Amino acid sequence: MREILYVDMSTLSIERKPLPEKWHRYGGRALTDAIVYDMVPPTADPLDQDNVLVFAPGLLGGTTAPNGGRLSIGAKSPLTGGIKESNVGGQAAHALGKLKIAAVVVSGKPADASARYLLTIEADGGAKLSRVDEWAGAKNYALADAIKAMRPADDRYATITNGPAGEAGMKAAGIAVSDPKGYPNRFAGRGGMGAVMGSKGLKAIVVSDKGLPYLEHADKEAFNAAMKRFSTALTTHPVSGQGLPTYGTNVLQNILNEAGGLPTRNFSSGQFEGVESISGETQREVTLERGGNVKHGCHTGCVIQCSRYWNDKDGNYKTKGPEYETVWSFGTDCGISDLDVIAELDRTCGEYGLDTIEMGATMAVYMDSGAIAFGDGPAALKTLKSVFEGGEPGRVLGDGAEAVGKKFGVAHIPVVKHQAMPAYEPRAVQGMGVTYATSTMGADHTAGYTVTANILGVGGTVDPLKADGQAGLSKNLQIATAMLDALGLCIFVAFPVLDIPDAFAAIHEMAAAHTGDVWDADELMRLGRETLTLERLFNEGAGFTAADDRLPVWMKTVPLPPHDTVFVVTDADLDSVFDFVPETAIAMGLR
Ligand code: SF4
Repeated sequence: MREILYVDMSTLSIERKPLPEKWHRYGGRALTDAIVYDMVPPTADPLDQDNVLVFAPGLLGGTTAPNGGRLSIGAKSPLTGGIKESNVGGQAAHALGKLKIAAVVVSGKPADASARYLLTIEADGGAKLSRVDEWAGAKNYALADAIKAMRPADDRYATITNGPAGEAGMKAAGIAVSDPKGYPNRFAGRGGMGAVMGSKGLKAIVVSDKGLPYLEHADKEAFNAAMKRFSTALTTHPVSGQGLPTYGTNVLQNILNEAGGLPTRNFSSGQFEGVESISGETQREVTLERGGNVKHGCHTGCVIQCSRYWNDKDGNYKTKGPEYETVWSFGTDCGISDLDVIAELDRTCGEYGLDTIEMGATMAVYMDSGAIAFGDGPAALKTLKSVFEGGEPGRVLGDGAEAVGKKFGVAHIPVVKHQAMPAYEPRAVQGMGVTYATSTMGADHTAGYTVTANILGVGGTVDPLKADGQAGLSKNLQIATAMLDALGLCIFVAFPVLDIPDAFAAIHEMAAAHTGDVWDADELMRLGRETLTLERLFNEGAGFTAADDRLPVWMKTVPLPPHDTVFVVTDADLDSVFDFVPETAIAMGLR
């Protein structure tokens, strides 16, 4: 029986209750959504006591399901104003899963705004809040060290920490989760979840799973058989078995550049002349030269292993990756072609607890204002540090691209629902434009990754420059992604799932064998549709309308080199993406 750990920061009380029957098929994103939908008034102030912050491993969390250790962090977002699920790797999901904790729900806020708390969840299930005011303002790596110093040497635990950006209520603040080596380098970056954690006075969570085994299954033999087939699919598909493990996520830098879909200098071109110096191929070469790591999992049980560690010129660990999105945001989008500068910007964001996608896009918007030049790495670093260390533009930077663009009068601000677009140009990868426009999350590449069929030829092909087929492609991928997020599976399993029918069958067989419930292809897709329906209904309640499901107007009028295309998908197509919501809402008893 899974349980929910309720942590009330107003009364500083903790209660453990059984997971309600109505949610027993939910995990991860489905469960964070259901809890936020149930507990949070859609019009609530995201940083006030009515919001809740939910941490939920997927339905397969705590098991040996390959790539099954993703954590969903949900709340009403201070950045978008809508519901948010920010997805992250690291060790915390498996630790919670092994403890049979389906979700940690943090509500209320302490009367004393200067108070800081540590939530400790021990391997025996005991949980307590401790006052840690001395940690106020601490950066993420220092927090990880402070926690290590207070734990027994033979402990095994995961950390969830909040940097100073979250404490300061910045809308671009993310939450850090520790990786298998204990580095606080995996980020639930998007949507300001760190600000919500900060508003609750919660500085850190420690989850110990010392001595706890992976979970038992209702049918062990069936689970293991499906698990092996799934693992084989992941390790034999060209993208998940070769491209990602060899070059990491930054394998995409050259691919998107060649496709003309790599947003450059604040989305003014689809190609970057400096791409060679920051490509995944170069990154691998330099990483190996410096004794860094070029292949490991962000959590135990990952068989794809796209993670890596970047060392500085002296061979010392600097940061993870950097990932494709970060190399793009601080590199290509800012016109910077120096991996060491990008790694320094990445580490600085990691220390403060800022989302690198939002911050890189924000920096590019600031550069577009003319305040500093595109390509000026030292100026970018100084600008980023101005958030906390003084100088220009200072605090506003931490509220993201839209806030900076409006303050400095920039014409082209690449956001949807107030959230900055990631590393795919909607005018050259039209399917991604549909996902950015319609996603409940704001501009989010992981919500429905049409790069598969638009660029990589995975799961079929859809011409990236034309409108035909993009809405249907995005819709199906958004449903499938919501399902994977609910199970706690990494989005990268989608590559083999789209090409190898048995990989999809293996997923529902694992879900059925683990839980003892009936799971098949239809049930999995229903899980995806229900998850998205909860999100759409919440956002409707928060005041979102069809007008919010649109790209910035300039993307429909200003042609993008080198294809000289604009975004051509019609509003009617965009409005068709969530056509299943009314019927699903009725079936769920929500309408
Ligand atoms: S494939 Fe990469 S992102 Fe996915 S679980 Fe493995 S290391 Fe993490």
